[in-house]
Amino acid sequence: MAKYPTPMLDELESGPWPSFVSDIKQEAANRKANPKNLDYQIPVDCLEDLLGQVELSYKEKETHWKHGGIVGVFGYGGGVIGRYSDQPEMFPGVAAFHTMRVAQPSGKYYDTKFLRTLCDIWDLRGSGLTNMHGSTGDIVLLGTQTPQLEEIFWQLTHEMHNDLGGSGSNLRTPAACLGMSRCEFACYNTQDMCYQLTMDYQDELHRPAFPYKFKFKFDGCPNGCVCAMARSDFAVIGTWKDDIKIDQEKVKAYVAGEIKPNAGAHAGRDWGKFDIEKEVIARCPTKCIKWDGSKLSIKTSDCVRCMHCINTMPQALHIGDERGACILVGAKAPVVDGAQMGSVLIPFISCEEPYDDIKEVIEKIWDWWMEEGKNRERVGETMKRLSFQKLLEATETPAMPCQVKNPRTNPFIFFKESEVPGGWTHDLAAYRQRHQR
Ligand code: SF4
Ligand code: SF4
Repeated sequence: MAKYPTPMLDELESGPWPSFVSDIKQEAANRKANPKNLDYQIPVDCLEDLLGQVELSYKEKETHWKHGGIVGVFGYGGGVIGRYSDQPEMFPGVAAFHTMRVAQPSGKYYDTKFLRTLCDIWDLRGSGLTNMHGSTGDIVLLGTQTPQLEEIFWQLTHEMHNDLGGSGSNLRTPAACLGMSRCEFACYNTQDMCYQLTMDYQDELHRPAFPYKFKFKFDGCPNGCVCAMARSDFAVIGTWKDDIKIDQEKVKAYVAGEIKPNAGAHAGRDWGKFDIEKEVIARCPTKCIKWDGSKLSIKTSDCVRCMHCINTMPQALHIGDERGACILVGAKAPVVDGAQMGSVLIPFISCEEPYDDIKEVIEKIWDWWMEEGKNRERVGETMKRLSFQKLLEATETPAMPCQVKNPRTNPFIFFKESEVPGGWTHDLAAYRQRHQR
């Protein structure tokens, strides 16, 4: 029998979707039954108290988690998010119920030993609730008490050779798509870059020194499986410079219906016969691809590498050979200033180990942001407040047309004296002569 009535939470179980309420109830029952005969290190009824507190929050329409509360492991400034109940007498099992962020493996590959060890640690020392994965990509362990933190950290680092992730005003756990390990579209080794940069920037990950959070994400191509463009302050998105490779015979096979489009991804539905005009040509965002009935051609200078044609006919079209990445800066979720996508800073950069070119850009951005950023201001907000031009200056990047988001809406253009050939002049005749008007 449940410790508290939870009518509002019970209602959430009635929809067609998987329910977190059902998950918590199942784990609560499991802990009571204790099939592993564990000597639980936090109260066995913590999950029932959790349900009770969430029900109260729904009823009173306010959270009963206190805001903040610094807690962590020795030597680290992040990785643990302190959670304290403001009703500890009513719900003692969740009086302290901290969240731990654990670094996910690059590309999120696990073996069963890793998962079993992690779950064994968490069953014993935590609530048993996990979130695979949090929005930054981390493995999220939900709910433990302060004396368990160092124990869990020791086991994570010494038994599993893993680490805590980032939280607070620091570098958050970098995330990569599975890239070259499985994907033919990967323009650079996302997993390796993610791993190398995670190792190089350990200080920034564990010792908060920034104005606010900073996220790296690495997508191997513009398909964006880790949503780098929308969800990271610094997005590295694979791209290529040369022509898309076209196998004309395979294109004809798609048109003749011999190969299923989209790699057969829509096999369960009848979309009718493949129509290259409607499904590829008309959908090209820059209208740079043409089909004359026997030959497909692409005007490379107009192609924005959106991946649509390649995704539709993957056996006929392939990414080019001159590969690297595009760097975008400043994406963020809508906390203070509204959601924002990343802006192109560097349209093409090489991605060769040891990634010195990339690190140089990162460090220039950090130096500028740490100097100019306000407290709790994401780099995208600093960029918006002070102008994109300041970011170009800070990173010593030349202005390029591909950085222009939209045409300017006022006629005033400000030049520096150094940018005007021949310097300033108030002599109109001399000016006209110089510019031959
Ligand atoms: Fe493949 Fe591109 Fe997705 Fe990475 S982002 S897994 S390279 S499709
Ligand atoms: Fe057009 Fe996108 Fe294909 Fe380029 S990648 S040709 S922009 S559909």
